[in-house]
Amino acid sequence: MKYFDCNGCGKCCKSNISLTYREMKKHIGNFPFIGTFSFLTLGTNEEFDKKKNTFHFLSESFSKNVVICPEIISLTNSIKCVQLGDDNKCKIYDSRPSVCALYPIRIDRNIHDIDQGLLFEYEASLKPENPLACEGWTFPDNKFISTQPSETDKTLLLNRGQYDKDTIDLLSGYFESMAMSDRFQSKIEGNKTGTLVIYVSDFLVYLSKNEYINQIDLNMLVIEQIKAFENLLRKMNVSAENTHAEHSERIINLAEVNIRSLKRIALMSPS
Ligand code: SF4
Ligand code: SF4
Repeated sequence: MKYFDCNGCGKCCKSNISLTYREMKKHIGNFPFIGTFSFLTLGTNEEFDKKKNTFHFLSESFSKNVVICPEIISLTNSIKCVQLGDDNKCKIYDSRPSVCALYPIRIDRNIHDIDQGLLFEYEASLKPENPLACEGWTFPDNKFISTQPSETDKTLLLNRGQYDKDTIDLLSGYFESMAMSDRFQSKIEGNKTGTLVIYVSDFLVYLSKNEYINQIDLNMLVIEQIKAFENLLRKMNVSAENTHAEHSERIINLAEVNIRSLKRIALMSPS
């Protein structure tokens, strides 16, 4: 019996996606990127010990138990992935990022759900209020897949395995370099949970200063990212279905700020 049959509705391509560092470099002209550090304060040492192996954690930098989930994500136009065509087909299907190729299996990077690790995107599909519920499941009833979290030891490995070592090292190093800044300290000390957004330009400068990339790479990555952000803005301007005004405004602001800071790097870089 077939339990999954994609009907091509395209709903799974209507939010941002998480990419590894290698994927970010490979797709630098395909997606506008931002970095995020989601953080969660845990009340007890027991909770903290359980989660700290899943995430990069920096308790010494803060006065409380904080776990950090770093991510490189694509910025969407608030409606759909920039690579989703009007025919609901992926324009880069043959080289799509691993998170897309895995779907409807996903490795959860949500800091609140992280214990669940490898999930079939099935539980979400059972929620009628979820507008992005996948329609591909064809189970005759709900008995075939447990909606309980899978085994913790295995999911920890899976969660850590989604990002290759390069990505974890880079993002952890970047976070450590930023952790003592006023912006990070006040946000994390003043909130139980939240997300810090990182401009891709700052991350690229960090990579260059720390010799992860050379000057030629930096120039190329900056130029391609400017094009990707400009492409996003173009799509948002022409998209008739773009109805989430408030969200769109936030995305436009983010894109414009990113373009400005990327252009500053381009001007500073020797050609
Ligand atoms: S949401 Fe599910 S059914 Fe729709 S395109 Fe994605 S995988 Fe296919
Ligand atoms: S890259 Fe392709 S498969 Fe992945 S979210 Fe975008 S359109 Fe969908």
